[in-house]
Amino acid sequence: MIKHKYTLKCEGKYMELKIGVIKGDGIGPEIVGEAVKVLDKIGKVYHHTYSYCQLLLGGASIDVYGVPLTEDTIEKAKSCDAVLMGSIGGDAKTSPWYKLEPSKRPEAGLLGIRKSLNLFANLRPAVLYEELKDACPLKEEITKDGFDLMIMRELTGGLYFGERKTEEKDGVITAYDSLTYNENEIRRIAKRAFDIARKRGKKVTSVDKANVLDSSRLWRKVVEEVATEYPEVSLEHMLVDNCAMQIVKNPKQFDVILTENMFGDILSDEASMVTGSIGMLASASLNETKFGLYEPSGGSAPDIAGKGIANPIAAILSAAMMLRFSFDLDQEADAIEKAVKQVLKEGYRTKDIISEGKTLVNTAEMGDLICERIE
Ligand code: NAD
Repeated sequence: MIKHKYTLKCEGKYMELKIGVIKGDGIGPEIVGEAVKVLDKIGKVYHHTYSYCQLLLGGASIDVYGVPLTEDTIEKAKSCDAVLMGSIGGDAKTSPWYKLEPSKRPEAGLLGIRKSLNLFANLRPAVLYEELKDACPLKEEITKDGFDLMIMRELTGGLYFGERKTEEKDGVITAYDSLTYNENEIRRIAKRAFDIARKRGKKVTSVDKANVLDSSRLWRKVVEEVATEYPEVSLEHMLVDNCAMQIVKNPKQFDVILTENMFGDILSDEASMVTGSIGMLASASLNETKFGLYEPSGGSAPDIAGKGIANPIAAILSAAMMLRFSFDLDQEADAIEKAVKQVLKEGYRTKDIISEGKTLVNTAEMGDLICERIE
């Protein structure tokens, strides 16, 4: 059971928050360091206090304990109000972590912690910033008004968790994977999507393959039932193949895209690519309470780790999502997002998003610039 330790004090919402911090591997410690810097600035300005609980996961945990996730990390994470994470993993060709059997590699730790914390809802925003339009691979006529969509992906069911087998019958090798959802799993993720749409553009696009799959037909039926509880939010259904096309044809039509595990895996990568910059994209994984694990969408970028050049904005925006979705601190989250936009508007860029005429800054400088613009 997740315990919530934060307290509300006097006039405003002055909170005491216990935040788990998983720095992780590669660029993780560098970018999480900047996100913590920004949280501290928010604490100063809005009078919140934090206690940070450092947790080991992935390669960093293997180096100390020989396994990517320990019971101790799980228990400590459960005692926190939310967890902020960098990213885990290393270079599969050179890192000794990848000489271990698959269940002992860094990625197994990530799957393990998501499962232990029952994080069934994965949220990935894909925002095209006015200032970074040049990085977007789509045509100007499509991107001229920008876009801001949120993918809500079911994370603990469906094809990736179904029964699977490879067997040989009469000399022919055959493999199968089963895709199963029950109505309760669909209902809880649908409610999460409608709750979030209510805070945003008030539209849910539920994506399925109901012309072929039984699981999709159940998905559609349950989503329609949930929609009746949210009369202010509009609902449309879209087949997954059409959705893949619409994301590149007209991404502005979407507000919240709600979908099952595998479709969400593919569509969220597509949506992040059309923004053009992986270092800018945050994500959240939520359970049934207010608890969430917040992390950049990208990986540990071993190719640039330790050089001080990684873009910390995805980690900083993940911290903003934490304030918004775990603590309902919308004003504070807005302040971070506004500061990020302001720094981009003033022309500051890390190496991954630099273009002609802009000012190159390193990881720590980008964090400092964002902090300075939070008032
Ligand atoms: P990656 O996202 O780490 O890197 C892909 C490219 O994007 C690289 O060129 C990298 O330098 C760049 N990049 C990523 N984040 C950046 C940032 N913040 N600033 C600037 N550039 C950035 O993907 P990969 O190379 O396929 O994976 C590397 C490792 O990360 C692997 O071990 C993989 O398993 C792991 N991974 C972890 C997570 C996670 O922790 N949730 C997610 C994806 C991949």
